[in-house]
Amino acid sequence: MLGSLTSTEQLRARLEAASRLGALGADARDLTELFRVLYDETARVVDATVFLFALYDEASETVEVVRQMDRGAEHEGGSFPLGKGFTSEVIRTGLPKLIRRWSAEGPPVRLLYGTEAGELVSPQSGLVVPILSGDRVLGVLSVQSYRPEAYDDADVLSLSAIAAQAAITIKRLRVTEQLALEHERHALQLEAVLASMNDALLIVDARGAIVRLNRAARELLRLDSASLVLGQPLERQRLEQWPITAREITEALLPVIDALRSGTSVEDLDIELHSGERRVLSLGASVLRSPKGPLQGGVIVLRDITEQRDLERLREDIFAMAWHDMGTPLTLIRGNAEILLRRLSSGESDAKASTAAAASIVKHADRLAELLTTLFDLHCLEAGLLSLSPWPTDLAALTREVTDGARLTTRHNIKVLADESAVGEWDERRIRQVIMNLLSNALKYSPEGSTVTVSVASDERSATVSVRDEGIGLDASELAQVFRRGYRAESARGVKGDGLGLYFAHGLVAKHGGRMWAESLGHGQGSTFCFTLPLRDESVGQPAEQRA
Ligand code: ADP
Repeated sequence: MLGSLTSTEQLRARLEAASRLGALGADARDLTELFRVLYDETARVVDATVFLFALYDEASETVEVVRQMDRGAEHEGGSFPLGKGFTSEVIRTGLPKLIRRWSAEGPPVRLLYGTEAGELVSPQSGLVVPILSGDRVLGVLSVQSYRPEAYDDADVLSLSAIAAQAAITIKRLRVTEQLALEHERHALQLEAVLASMNDALLIVDARGAIVRLNRAARELLRLDSASLVLGQPLERQRLEQWPITAREITEALLPVIDALRSGTSVEDLDIELHSGERRVLSLGASVLRSPKGPLQGGVIVLRDITEQRDLERLREDIFAMAWHDMGTPLTLIRGNAEILLRRLSSGESDAKASTAAAASIVKHADRLAELLTTLFDLHCLEAGLLSLSPWPTDLAALTREVTDGARLTTRHNIKVLADESAVGEWDERRIRQVIMNLLSNALKYSPEGSTVTVSVASDERSATVSVRDEGIGLDASELAQVFRRGYRAESARGVKGDGLGLYFAHGLVAKHGGRMWAESLGHGQGSTFCFTLPLRDESVGQPAEQRA
């Protein structure tokens, strides 16, 4: 096109083109936009009756035409394998190809785009230049004309200059596309990690608004619809937006969010929740700050450490109990052993006194053994290591045996109302422990001379034992807590105990698949403690694999 101008005009036109080229395609957001920019520029400097912009995919050796122009009409692209035509030749060699007279130089041309059959005409000249990045051919720019000799060597240079600019934009777009893909991949990976985390995670922005939370956090905060709170700064006056069940923890989060807002991280803060089930959460919060930039917000991680804390407390309790309860028997054993030793070495022969000292040693050694067993049992129950040895056991007979034993040492009136027999597959030693615990409590917490009634009843599915006394009774709040480890009601403080018996008995019954509960009309009204055991293994009759 420039060929018809004078050399000064040509020079000016080329300089103008060069300055335009500097910014060519800088704004293009995708390949289609780039195609249009390239076409406009190409049409300015050469005959672009037919214009084609294609990329080359090395991996599949395919030429992918982005789009094409034919006499001012834009057409879709397409793709074709690297072949024998001029375009393929340019891609292979990396050198421009100028076709002055197609009919004389080139193979018959088939146009890729859908020109109507009637108008099918062949270009007479063409120019294809590679789009290069170093030695690599990224693609081609191709122009064709329906007239011969439409292009000369100067046009090769012009089109190559445009191709050089195209290369820059293609690389930028590829980087952007690559970055977008990388971004997406990272986001997906992060999403998967967050979703699979057991710890609850919340991300807040610089205003203290929750902008993201994972599944565990949603569960912890009981948020069915997170949209309620997402994006809103977490502030005291907005707490009513939160589900009631989550308010306690939300309130505990407020100072943490304040700390993050002021750029301070929080390490290892324990939060104890009391509404509903008691839970202990460990919280850590880190400030998010872009490198050298302003505060972006923070990440809060909450971990449920209730079990861990309970186990720690159990260990402490066991140690404290051992320290507390073993001291007395040990002192007594040592004292009596000393007496015996002195007698033996001095030749004293008061047989009665020696027998009493020896008996005391045996009694307190038994007490020590019993204590150690309790501690060991407790540990096993908590650690899930307690195993049962079920055996056909008659609950009615077992109850009679335990009550008969107790009658020998108490001034209470013990009544037994029991079925003839109630036989099930239970661990006799453990169930004996349970009955003994309920009976000894009934005796401990009721006055001498009062009546304790032990009943055993059964139906087809289960057997129930209940122990009723006329003692100190329990109010509603005490009833709700009697099975907690270490719990002792205020009214029981005058009586010796460690608050472990019911906890352990409850655990044993649960282990048998049964249930234990307590009833009382209040202080001074007596109490009834009951437990039920299944008579038949519920899994009997099911296919073997379901029973496992
Ligand atoms: P301990 O009796 O050693 O304290 P338990 O675990 O057996 O431990 O009982 C826990 C608490 O439950 C007791 O301290 C007492 O407050 C209450 N309790 C248990 N049995 C009775 C009962 N029969 N009447 C009233 N309170 C009882």
